[in-house]
Amino acid sequence: MSCKEVAEKANAMVDGEVSAWEAMQLKVHLAMCKGCGRFVDQIRTTDELTAAAALDDMMSEADDGRINAILAELNQARHQGG
Ligand SMILES: [Zn+2]
Repeated sequence: MSCKEVAEKANAMVDGEVSAWEAMQLKVHLAMCKGCGRFVDQIRTTDELTAAAALDDMMSEADDGRINAILAELNQARHQGG
C-alpha cells in the first residue's frame, strides 16, 4: 500500500469503515512510515475533538470541567507528537 492510498483510506480507517484486510495493510504501513503515522494521528485527534464537541452538546447539563479536561488531554497528546 502506498502513502497515497493510506491518505485516501485514513479517514475510513479512523471511522472503522475499512475491511480487516485493509486495516491490516494500513497498520503495517503505519508501523513503517512515520509520515503517515503522524497524518493518521492528526485525523484521530480531529475526530476525537469532533466527538468531544458532540458530547458537549449531548451533555450540556454535565459539568464543563470534565469536558475541558478531555480537551486539554487531547491537546497534550497532540503536542507530544512533535
Ligand atoms: Zn506512508
